[in-house]
Amino acid sequence: MRKPIIAGNWKMNLTASEAKAFAEAVKNNIPGNDKVDSVIGSPALFLETLVDAAKGTDLKIAAQNCYWENSGAFTGETSPAALADLGVDYVIIGHSERREYFHETDEEINKKAKAIFANGMTPILCCGESLETYEAEKTAEWIEGQITAGLADLTDEQVSNLVIAYEPIWAIGTGKSADATIADDICGVVRQTVEKLYGGEVAAKVRIQYGGSVKPENIAEYMAKENVDGALVGGASLQTDSFLALLDAV
Ligand code: 13P
Repeated sequence: MRKPIIAGNWKMNLTASEAKAFAEAVKNNIPGNDKVDSVIGSPALFLETLVDAAKGTDLKIAAQNCYWENSGAFTGETSPAALADLGVDYVIIGHSERREYFHETDEEINKKAKAIFANGMTPILCCGESLETYEAEKTAEWIEGQITAGLADLTDEQVSNLVIAYEPIWAIGTGKSADATIADDICGVVRQTVEKLYGGEVAAKVRIQYGGSVKPENIAEYMAKENVDGALVGGASLQTDSFLALLDAV
């Protein structure tokens, strides 16, 4: 049985004091981690504050990006070793906003995945197609390509522990969430791709999230699907009441 994982992705929102107040308000009200992994994906600036606030609770903290080298002359980048030292558990990589606005490639995302594992953290690797690809009915091959390149040269053990988020770009922040059957189908494509590359045992373990306009009112539809093990949530993760409602719905 795969444990559900619900992760908020705050994107570039909130301030340090708001982040601290958020963590204080939710940390003792989340379900136990025997039921669900509850994660907040925060801007790098507030990670230390959040890790400190979450200490001794089941709340886990994710960064939204990192570099693939641990140190060196890389001005403005974030070291995965420094994230691990802070106590960060997960790092979101390959979000469509990073691919689109910051031109991240599959090869770079693959290097980040390896660096995150090497530092004892877990990547949440994002994939997803544009509206154009969706309308041309090329989603399955697009996703297969992103997953194959993103997972290159990872070990069976690493992929077994990986989290993959399927986020159709046309459903992000638009209020137009993908139909739960479509989400399940494409999360199934992700799992089949993992199976092709790493075999059935690994594919049965990898956790796959759906993301794109998930909210407390629709999360149960996704979670009921066979291939959907969780959600990566933007807008609805920014208020404490809706974040807790998402977790309670699992
Ligand atoms: P929304 O939930 O705001 O659509 O954002 C989804 C997302 O991009 C999460 O990473």
